[in-house]
Amino acid sequence: HAKHVHGGGVCLFTPSLETAVRADRAIEAALQASSFEEELSIVLQPIVELASGRLSAVEVLARWSNPMLGEISAMEFIAIAERSTAIHSITRAVFKKGLKAARQLPDCVAVSFNISACDLTSASTLAFIRDEIASAGIAPHRIWIEVTETAVMRNADAAAQALQAFRDLGVGIALDDFGTGYSSLGYVQRLPLDKVKIDRSFVGALDTEEGSTITSAVITLCHTIGLTCVAEGVETEAQRQTLAEAGCEHAQGYLFSKPLPLAELLLRCADAQASWLDSDRRTAVA
Ligand code: C2E
Ligand code: MG
Ligand code: MG
Ligand code: MG
Repeated sequence: HAKHVHGGGVCLFTPSLETAVRADRAIEAALQASSFEEELSIVLQPIVELASGRLSAVEVLARWSNPMLGEISAMEFIAIAERSTAIHSITRAVFKKGLKAARQLPDCVAVSFNISACDLTSASTLAFIRDEIASAGIAPHRIWIEVTETAVMRNADAAAQALQAFRDLGVGIALDDFGTGYSSLGYVQRLPLDKVKIDRSFVGALDTEEGSTITSAVITLCHTIGLTCVAEGVETEAQRQTLAEAGCEHAQGYLFSKPLPLAELLLRCADAQASWLDSDRRTAVA
């Protein structure tokens, strides 16, 4: 355990903590030096309309492979990138690649991007996204942005204003990881949102009676304030069924597909006869 001796200014770290700090530093340094156009790639995870089984959208997820450090998880490198301007370069590279992918997907499929808190309030990021959507020739309503509750709550007034600016572009707005933050419902209601992505901790609790009652209530509540629901992290057929019965419109998770490279997604889309709900299209959970 880390021992912190106050007054003496002595701070002893365990080797594991020291290693973690060093790893963070290495990632930070690599982020500064990286060419994201080359090292970043994207994968696309299907979002399925539960009533029809059709593909309603794909979520764009960043992948980073650095020559020195290897593969670093999105969770890890995004959090570190958010401490510097590196996040803006990542957002731009991801948007460029994601919009290119959007051009190859059917017009009825929306493309959903994750946006950090610092992107949200950056006027230059907004202008960049606007211009990229226009030059890609994509209808803005095909683009969704996902913001986490925590990101929005950090500076609530500025965030609400920024979300409205995105909405004015015609872009759809989803509240990501809903249920993990501390926002009050009254506050959520005042945000210019279209969709709520119900966090997978709710979905994971669906196998208990209490969990499914709570999740159903959350879905009903979202509908009451005019929001469409997307369930995250759906892994089992039982979860899919409970969500469909609760009126949840869309779902995403390993049950339907893991995140896929564009080429693989296009192959699966080409088989237009089949529904994304058919078991033979699903990737097995490892
Ligand atoms: P998120 O936006 O909530 O994305 C969903 C995460 O859940 C993804 O992890 C996805 O691979 C994973 N997932 C999908 N289905 C299942 C399932 O059935 N079970 C389980 N256990 N997990 C599932 P990933 O790709 O590692 O991304 C982690 C987080 O990193 C994302 O969470 C998002 O917050 C962030 N992120 C990823 N790409 C970007 C990006 O381009 N920009 C920003 N700002 N953040 C990003
Ligand atoms: Mg997301
Ligand atoms: Mg999420
Ligand atoms: Mg999440």
